[in-house]
Amino acid sequence: MRLQDKKALVTGTSRGIGRAISSRFIAEGAHVWGISMNEPADLAERLAASGGRLHWVCADLGDLEKVEALIEGLIKDAGGFDILVNNAGITRDNLSFRMPLADFQKVLDVNVSAPFIIARTVGRSMIRERCGSIINMASVVGIHGNGGQANYAAAKAGVIGFTKSLAQEAAPRGVRVNAIAPGFIATDMTNAMTGEAKEKTVSLIPLKRMGSPDDIARTALFLASDESSYITGQVLPVDGGMFM
Ligand code: NAD
Repeated sequence: MRLQDKKALVTGTSRGIGRAISSRFIAEGAHVWGISMNEPADLAERLAASGGRLHWVCADLGDLEKVEALIEGLIKDAGGFDILVNNAGITRDNLSFRMPLADFQKVLDVNVSAPFIIARTVGRSMIRERCGSIINMASVVGIHGNGGQANYAAAKAGVIGFTKSLAQEAAPRGVRVNAIAPGFIATDMTNAMTGEAKEKTVSLIPLKRMGSPDDIARTALFLASDESSYITGQVLPVDGGMFM
């Protein structure tokens, strides 16, 4: 029970990585406030299985004007958060030469502007308490780039930049801020790829498999818990050795 009675705000909890993180945090004793665009079909079962530890909020985090008030309301409701995982994210892939500006902007809004607003808002209340752990979901693409994902790479590079800046501002006030950079993880986001493209990508991974959402959830648990109490401002790649 590494998160006994801790309160965590996790975005993008309906499926994939966010779902795995919320389940693992609850299994470790945390209360999780989950935000997603939609309700998953099995929400009632998940709420029942959590024994009152999962609290659900449906919201579009791309609606930037409303994000701060939404988060302030949740902070009040929860009585403050010990942990924030900024996980929600989208892709709108295209070659740069063909990418509509609206698709570039949308990915920046959801993947970097919303996480920044959420981190700033939750961070303020953590600083008052002089403790807390903020975890931002970046990507190896934000470090290395990826053809067809200029918008996504720009957003994830932005996540890394604001993680390090916020970490410097928050460290003297007892709040840690880190990022996880997943590689190629088996979720709906990567399911859109053809079988051939997946095989080609897996062949480039030294550990010879896609990551699972729980590979990322266990990393988030480490960064959320006191086991990482001397780690801040870091970007932890979890990519099966894809980039060494
Ligand atoms: P996913 O598409 O399976 O799930 C995304 C989640 O984000 C969903 O719960 C969805 O409801 C939520 N979301 C999306 N837009 C939202 C919005 N506007 N408002 C509120 N919620 C919204 O994705 P995933 O693969 O689980 O990815 C989770 C995170 O990990 C993302 O930030 C993604 O960029 C990052 N990541 C994923 C991979 C991968 O290979 N899957 C690799 C690197 C980084």
